[in-house]
Amino acid sequence: KCHLESAKMLNLDSSVDASLNLQSRPDVLTCTYWKAAIIWEGMFDPRLYDEMHKRRGSSVALTVFAVGRYLDAYLHTFLNSSEQHFMVGLPVTYYVFTDMPEKVPNIKLSPLRSMKVIKVEKNSRWQDVSMMRMKSISNVIESDIHHHCTHVFCFDVDQVFTGRFGSEALGDSVALLHAHYYRLPKHLYTYDRNPNSKAYMETGDFYYHAAIFGGSWKNVKALTEACYQGIMEDKQNNVEALWHDESHLNKYMLLHKPSKVLSPEYCWDTSIGFRSDIQVTRLLWAPKYYDTLRTP
Ligand code: UDP
Ligand code: MN
Repeated sequence: KCHLESAKMLNLDSSVDASLNLQSRPDVLTCTYWKAAIIWEGMFDPRLYDEMHKRRGSSVALTVFAVGRYLDAYLHTFLNSSEQHFMVGLPVTYYVFTDMPEKVPNIKLSPLRSMKVIKVEKNSRWQDVSMMRMKSISNVIESDIHHHCTHVFCFDVDQVFTGRFGSEALGDSVALLHAHYYRLPKHLYTYDRNPNSKAYMETGDFYYHAAIFGGSWKNVKALTEACYQGIMEDKQNNVEALWHDESHLNKYMLLHKPSKVLSPEYCWDTSIGFRSDIQVTRLLWAPKYYDTLRTP
């Protein structure tokens, strides 16, 4: 058993996880010190999570950005694979942000699933495209998502679903362990260490990957607003955090601990090679073509 039983009073997600009989695993860390579960294959019964979320009426907004050349390169594969694997059985609304709405592929969606396309301006620097997502997400949570969805998950587009990415991943505030860092000592984490940046931190709990984060709409709104504010303050002070929005996300998660953490199964990079603790891959990094995709 995961030592979540003792956490029943601490965090709502851990109490749900404990009641759904979340198990531990001997070879990996399955609980943070603040008693949030770290979700790995073999720990959970998917049917119990699906049943509970159906009973509670959970519904999920998935946000994804496909701006400039990223649209042709990735969006079709991302959406098609998501139809196969993301929150199957629950109501899902895709929020696709792009500068070219007319080029969004027409994909046949399963029942209970729909798509909204939102036009955004194309920033000329890729760093700004990435960082400004925080602003667009908080805007659309305010204007639309919070009327329709209980939960929000935010994704990079350069990835492909390959296995169940289901309701076990839902929580109040959800962060992802970065595949390249989860086994490394903390001094190698690439936090922003410039004291002039709002993202500055010396040390933290984990290195989280900004390719995926989520939570209740309220928490994701708070997170994206705080990160956007940090990004804008940095701009006024003429600094930019080392890894842009990811640095700000890591700072936010240091100050506001996630209630659930996803293992790197939820965003794996096959170039890392075999790891015995990765028993399934649920989402894989797609090939990066920075040279062609990032040139303006
Ligand atoms: N993005 C985009 N167009 C761009 C740059 C970025 O649509 O020109 C979006 C896209 O969703 C992408 C995300 O921002 O997945 C983050 O950028 P990228 O994946 O290149 O960052 P990395 O994975 O290398 O951190
Ligand atoms: Mn990416």
